[in-house]
Amino acid sequence: MTSKLAIFGGRPVRDKFLPYGQQWIDEEDIKAVLETLEGDYLTTGPKVREFEEKVADYVGTKYAVAVSNGTAALHAACFAADIKKGDEVITTPITFAASVNCILYQGGKPVFADIDTKTYNIDPKNIENKITNKTKAIIPVDFTGQAVNLDKIMRLAEKYNLIVIEDAAHAIGTEYKGQKVGSIAHMTEFSFHTVKHVTTGEGGIVTTNDKKFYENLSLFRTHGITRDRRLMVNKKEGSWYYEQLELGYNYRITDIQCALGISQLNKIDKFIQRRRELVKKYNKYLREVDGVITPYEAEYSNSSWHLYIIQIELEKFKVGRKEIFEALKAENIGVNVHYVPVYYHPYYQKLGYKKGLCTNAEKLYERIITLPLFPKMTDKDLEDVVNAVNKVLSYYKR
Ligand SMILES: *Cc1c(COP(=O)(O)O)cnc(C)c1O
Repeated sequence: MTSKLAIFGGRPVRDKFLPYGQQWIDEEDIKAVLETLEGDYLTTGPKVREFEEKVADYVGTKYAVAVSNGTAALHAACFAADIKKGDEVITTPITFAASVNCILYQGGKPVFADIDTKTYNIDPKNIENKITNKTKAIIPVDFTGQAVNLDKIMRLAEKYNLIVIEDAAHAIGTEYKGQKVGSIAHMTEFSFHTVKHVTTGEGGIVTTNDKKFYENLSLFRTHGITRDRRLMVNKKEGSWYYEQLELGYNYRITDIQCALGISQLNKIDKFIQRRRELVKKYNKYLREVDGVITPYEAEYSNSSWHLYIIQIELEKFKVGRKEIFEALKAENIGVNVHYVPVYYHPYYQKLGYKKGLCTNAEKLYERIITLPLFPKMTDKDLEDVVNAVNKVLSYYKR
């Protein structure tokens, strides 16, 4: 029995719209923020350092530099890697534009390498094919939370003397062969945007074990200005004196945000556990559905699951992804598509990137739908999603 689709006026599976992602804020978080508001520092105070130390501790690195958002973190990492005009940087097209824009901010040239059809992550073989004598860095993205093949990528980096900036915006808490991402690449970026695992409202961080990178990231966050006498050109001025050594930005994060971040990090294990539990349930139900491909999990990665993405085997349906997507949305399911290949955007097309560049990525893009996934989601919410998928797909089945 299939009831009438909501898109044709039938009753939706849910009355209330279920978003694809959402933060989980509790009383402790609110208390932490209020306490900071009543304290001496609103911005750059003790909470920033405490948050940085807590993240560095969690991922297992020496250093962490927190900034105003994940995009700023990527920008800072590109600066610290000394990416400049003429340098090529290899990255994936299946990502948020920020992973690529950061290369352009520094005057570098993005070079797209195609994805692996199983993991949807950048394929190390395709990276190697794109390396030239201008290549300076690689920005691999742990898409959906699944770690990229870090052994292979770090080996390429060593062989060709490249810097690896891992975009782990989806992957805080993910383990690569038992080791948390954040401590493996030369620099790793995380985002604390509200849909990510833990949030500061807006926020980002770069983790690294390299002191030089750490110093450059710190400079970049505050206009390129230092108060550290050891780094200064003129060392004899009075104690009022500071020096601008580089052209940086105001990418500071506030104490208010970091107070929230610290409180959120106390709950990260619970959040990730719940995400993994929800994914298990999705897999169990959706593996049964003909025409749906559930996510593949590489044996080297234990994902912290930012996104749950299904592939639709379009040849089995009478309509395209667009009709299926709109029908799910009408059932009050907050579906999404991650991502439009970055070089499809008119801005990148104007720069000369042409469709056909990464065929695996392009084919994947035609077939994917992101389903809601966030720790506060209930089992009932998940069942609604599964019911909606069944309802819509059985209606459109060939
Ligand atoms: C969220 C995200 C970022 C950073 O985004 P901000 O909103 O600036 O924190 C970078 N890369 C990817 C893949 C992301 O999903």
